Amino acid sequence: MTAAPELPITESQRPTRKREPTPEYEPEPRGKAERYTVFAFVFVPLLAVAAAVPLAWGWGLSWTDIVIATVFYVISGLGITVGFHRHFTHGSFRANRPLRIALAVAGSLAIEGSVIKWVADHRRHHKYSDAEGDPHSPWRFGDDWKSVAKGLYYAHMAWMYLDEKKTSPRRFTPDLLRDKDVVLIDKLFVPLVFVSLGAPALIGGLVTMSWWGAFTAFFWAGLVRVALLHHVTWSVNSICHTVGEENFEVRDRSRNVWWLAIPSLGESWHNLHHADPTCARHGVLKGQIDISARVIWIFEKLGWATKVRWPNTERLAAKRVKV
Ligand SMILES: [Zn+2]
Ligand SMILES: [Zn+2]
Repeated sequence: MTAAPELPITESQRPTRKREPTPEYEPEPRGKAERYTVFAFVFVPLLAVAAAVPLAWGWGLSWTDIVIATVFYVISGLGITVGFHRHFTHGSFRANRPLRIALAVAGSLAIEGSVIKWVADHRRHHKYSDAEGDPHSPWRFGDDWKSVAKGLYYAHMAWMYLDEKKTSPRRFTPDLLRDKDVVLIDKLFVPLVFVSLGAPALIGGLVTMSWWGAFTAFFWAGLVRVALLHHVTWSVNSICHTVGEENFEVRDRSRNVWWLAIPSLGESWHNLHHADPTCARHGVLKGQIDISARVIWIFEKLGWATKVRWPNTERLAAKRVKV
């Protein structure tokens, strides 16, 4: 038996004073309209990637597009990894107000759902991790190859448009519901989706002073960038709970996957993350590159981030899988 990992919740949301705990799901299930919208946001960028290959074949991709796409990938990607994940979900560091607002906005630009919804689902993932109640476990249908194939698809993306259950923010994110800035940014999610897709087009159009430049920037830095970031983020839920190395003892199937380390900005060191969820660095072993941890380190040096939970050598040694 391995020791149960700490719950990924902050002190402030621990025991409720009420006798009856708040239910984990919202009383109203997610309606068809909401699930179809999510489905469209999953598949339209994916179609853009399918169209990208012929478009890139000699025309329709300029250096301007590549630069804008990279900048938007990094900003929205770090918004998810440093912001939604390490800061808002797990409290692995404190952020001053401007940084907290910037991280909530940047993460929203990834179009992976609003900040409160994202955090509520992810805290539920850690609470149940590969057991009944986990919103996206690849093992939910069983261990044989057919079930795992189905489970991989479900954990990667289908849970977002098939699951009718809605995680209760009141139960999982009371800390965020008390923060007026976060609640406001959560409400502004739809306008931020337009910003995320529209800003690249605007920049591309202004740089090239052409409608074609606006279109290709929208295509590459809007749609294709969102698709790539989606599938990298979702690979952490699917691939990093299926294959990879178990460097640290966990009660679930989370694994470290080295080849996703760079595109996932350090999030694919997912086995360590489940072993020590509040740790600000996920790539703790030699050679495990973790770009997000480096960014948090820069924020700390600038004085914007404080109380950073850097790896504790003794605690990690105790969790290390003996070889
Ligand atoms: Zn996590
Ligand atoms: Zn996980």
